Amino acid sequence: MSLTLGGVQLLDADGELQRGWISVEGDRIVGIGYDDSAPADIKLDGRTVLPGFVDMHCHGGGGASYTSADPEQIARAAQTHLAHGTTTTNASLVSATYDDLERQIRALIPFVDDGTLNGIHLEGPWISPNYCGAHDPATLRDPHPDEVARIMDIGEGRISMVTIAPELPGAVTSIERIVATGAIAALGHTGADADHARAAVDAGATVATHLFNAMPPLLHRAAGPVGVLLTDPRVTVELISDGHHLGPEVVSLTMTTARERSALITDAMAAAGAGDGTYVLGDLEVRVTDGVARLVSNGSLAGSTLFMDSALRRAVRIAGVPLADASAAASVVPARTLCLADRGELAVGQRADLVVLDDEWAVERVMRAGQWVSGSR
Ligand SMILES: [Zn+2]
Repeated sequence: MSLTLGGVQLLDADGELQRGWISVEGDRIVGIGYDDSAPADIKLDGRTVLPGFVDMHCHGGGGASYTSADPEQIARAAQTHLAHGTTTTNASLVSATYDDLERQIRALIPFVDDGTLNGIHLEGPWISPNYCGAHDPATLRDPHPDEVARIMDIGEGRISMVTIAPELPGAVTSIERIVATGAIAALGHTGADADHARAAVDAGATVATHLFNAMPPLLHRAAGPVGVLLTDPRVTVELISDGHHLGPEVVSLTMTTARERSALITDAMAAAGAGDGTYVLGDLEVRVTDGVARLVSNGSLAGSTLFMDSALRRAVRIAGVPLADASAAASVVPARTLCLADRGELAVGQRADLVVLDDEWAVERVMRAGQWVSGSR
């Protein structure tokens, strides 16, 4: 039995919102049109329907953290973001000792297997001590290829992405090993120059972990990693559009330059949806004030309190990015980057992952694989 949502606003092929309808049967989209011809089972006049959001980089939410290795917390973090429209998510782990990482990876595997998570993202420990942001410097390691391969083996194919600093000894071989497992190698938390960045991309790296943050800046005679990652057509660049990690002009510049290669991420930590207060990220204490998360020790930004819908609204309303580009950056670009061909677009045959936004673009309802998500209001 199919279900048709009528009277909704949908982005058309020209990136304009048009009144139309969308039909779902089972877990798939089975029809879509830009007219009033289909009899609607549910009238959603004035609401905008976008593809479900795909978050490649997220540490937690709802007061819960993916590093906890606690099933209740893992489920709560994913559910909190799902209620805000994230129908596909990676669970990101900050740098930790190999023993802790092993425990955390094993705790996440069942949630990848049941579809709650797309995969696991290791944001460390093979990153630069000079650009470690909110990662505990005591846990950082050089990426010895055999050690990297051993950790990848623990994931048994569920590690989706690994962030690595390409200038570290062993990094290029490790990138090749990571890519050979089917995972994505991402560059980030790095002091790389342009040559290091190019070598990493040539070795198979395809993602820039939160471009601009935790790496040297773009200078007019030294483009650095940002210049390479921003211009290389093989690379998807992650952006934290929270108003604190990046200025609005930088979001606009990047999403124009790397159009169809920019992915909005949350990089959210436990405080997303849980309010100000004191939290931990890995083993480090974080204070959240007015929604901004900073390490207690040195004031470094420590992830965000974003949801994907707020990242999208900020990109459009504050950075002036066209809605169609922001929606692509929240859905189809990360989906294709993660090699997920069955989602990211509103099109016949795609998985029925839908976000219904009210006239203020707040999330009103979420559908994941054809099922309405409880807890989405
Ligand atoms: Zn992160």
